[in-house]
Amino acid sequence: MTIINRKKNTQMYLVTSALPYANGDIHLGHIVEAVQTDIFVRFQKLVGNHAVYVCADDTHGTPIEVSAMKLKITPQELIERVYNRHIEDYKAFGINFDIFYTTNSNENKYYAEKIYSSLRNKGLIIEKKISQYYCEHDKRFLPDRFIKGICPSCKAEDQYGDVCEICGATYEPTDLKSPYCILCKNPPVLKESVHLYVQLSKYENFLRNYILSSDVLAEEMKNFVKTWIDGGLKDWCISRDGPYFGFEIPDMPNKFFYVWLDAPIGYISSTQKWCNENNKNIDDYWSKKSNTKLIHFIGKDIVYFHTLFWPVMLESAEFKLPSKIFVHGFLNAEGGEKMSKSRGTFIQAKDYLERVKHPQSAEFLRFYFGSKLSNSAEDIDFNTNEFINRINTVLSNNIGNLHHRTVVFCQRYFNNEIPDGPWDNEIAEKIIKEGEAIFSDYNNVMYKSVIERIQELGNVGNKYYQDSKPWELIKNDINKAAIVMVTCANLVRSLGVFLKPIVPSIVKKLEVQYGKEFSWEDHVFSLRKVKLGEPEKLVQPLEKDDLSSLFKKEDLKEKSININKEIDIKEFQNIDLRVAEIKHAEKIEKSDKLLKLQIDIGGELRQIVAGIAQNYSPESIIGKKIIVVANLKSTIIRGIKSEGMLLAAKNKNDLCLIIPEKDISSGSKVS
Ligand SMILES: [Zn+2]
Ligand SMILES: [Zn+2]
Repeated sequence: MTIINRKKNTQMYLVTSALPYANGDIHLGHIVEAVQTDIFVRFQKLVGNHAVYVCADDTHGTPIEVSAMKLKITPQELIERVYNRHIEDYKAFGINFDIFYTTNSNENKYYAEKIYSSLRNKGLIIEKKISQYYCEHDKRFLPDRFIKGICPSCKAEDQYGDVCEICGATYEPTDLKSPYCILCKNPPVLKESVHLYVQLSKYENFLRNYILSSDVLAEEMKNFVKTWIDGGLKDWCISRDGPYFGFEIPDMPNKFFYVWLDAPIGYISSTQKWCNENNKNIDDYWSKKSNTKLIHFIGKDIVYFHTLFWPVMLESAEFKLPSKIFVHGFLNAEGGEKMSKSRGTFIQAKDYLERVKHPQSAEFLRFYFGSKLSNSAEDIDFNTNEFINRINTVLSNNIGNLHHRTVVFCQRYFNNEIPDGPWDNEIAEKIIKEGEAIFSDYNNVMYKSVIERIQELGNVGNKYYQDSKPWELIKNDINKAAIVMVTCANLVRSLGVFLKPIVPSIVKKLEVQYGKEFSWEDHVFSLRKVKLGEPEKLVQPLEKDDLSSLFKKEDLKEKSININKEIDIKEFQNIDLRVAEIKHAEKIEKSDKLLKLQIDIGGELRQIVAGIAQNYSPESIIGKKIIVVANLKSTIIRGIKSEGMLLAAKNKNDLCLIIPEKDISSGSKVS
């Protein structure tokens, strides 16, 4: 049988999740990726392959320095604190790293220097003199996080030197208007400094070959990367001026490796640490000659780093290249919205565990994420109703129920044993066939499909049980009743084997019940005349109440006054607000929200379309003075021209017009 053959040629895997950054807690987005990776590794181990799951904290760079400064501790203290919290969080979700290390290690320094010298020796590194902000007061260069100013794009104040948190624009620190040093608030000066750049373009052919003519990436991602390569590969700056929390560059005093150089090297150095502790040879994992498959799991925000910079670093130093890079999407909340702190939908791992009262909450989340994950980079929507539904339908009602009714029946009529007898061949063969498909789904990270197949097999089992009516058979044909029990017990065990990488703790209960730890081969029917443990329910159903405080609705109310980021007076003065009188108002056909208004702005007649019909009748507002935005670009709404916008206050369904406190002539300016 093919299943047995597979075990003979064991495949070696080195599997990674992206390194979480050490300046904050693990959130549910991290958990998605860790669960995706962990399932893959657990599956490989289950089928008898050798797999090592490697991860670490990414600890360097200015955000760490800034966070530590705010807490009045050293960066080292910060990363130690965070490290312990990260370990706790991952553990709570059953993430079974073989090693979780740190990039602030001797091993990482060693490999960073090694890769750097290879890049240098291969002629990939050039020096460029650039002008950078420098603070005369603090006597230091100011990297992007040490400098703030006005966003060149949207004019928002107090934005960092690399990206605007308001409009999302990215830019150079020198593009900021009115820049200032975050340490002393003084304006910086420009000063020349030498920096190191990796000329990626020299490896363009290599990258085209490696990424585009292989199956390292899924098609959709390949197309992305192709547009980057086609657009021309830019030189990549890998140095930062000191002081910087990171590794000093060997031949460049007071210059440090940019955090993105040594972060992915953490994959190698953590493997090294694991090898040291487990008496293994790193060459078996990272040398070009090794047969180990290197598999990365990453989010779609760091594809650039992993598909362009990283392969060039590895290739130049003659390390193994990734065999697969699986890219997942972002986790969104309830209906596709980005998880957001102000809306209370940005959930830390610790918050989840604290807020969801169910004792199996962590395992349920693994199952739910599993049921949504495939090898596509599409975003994942966290929907509480769907979550409850999937847990209860598949785990509780389907598999849990089949398991429970089977063991209770065996306990009652067969002396707490799976009886001795044959099983239903049709079902046994179905399991073998589906087992092959599930095997391939797991290898392709199609967990969604794995769970669908498991659910379908659970349905088959329940229907078989129901149709066979063992409670009637037991009265007059005990042998036939035995066949039903042998079949159902074997089927439940098969489902347990299939589910084991996804919900290991739940399956543990089954293993205790059946008196044996499951390996992949155990999905094939073989059980008869086996003593069962005490019947125990696999899962307690998930109630709506269990999840009611997950997105902290009560906090949401308090926070519903979300004042927009401040603007300066100039931005406000750009808006021309005027008093206007409503001369005429009428309903717009086929719209229950819109009114068409004719207004007078100091002698100028205009038409505007306003969404106030549910709160005001046309006749009730004629003659009223209102405030309008007079310089708004005209637009067409429902085929009707609208030349301006009126001001109204809104709270849920309640709406009121803003009206001058006493009569004042129309056209008056509002400021
Ligand atoms: Zn901006
Ligand atoms: Zn300063």
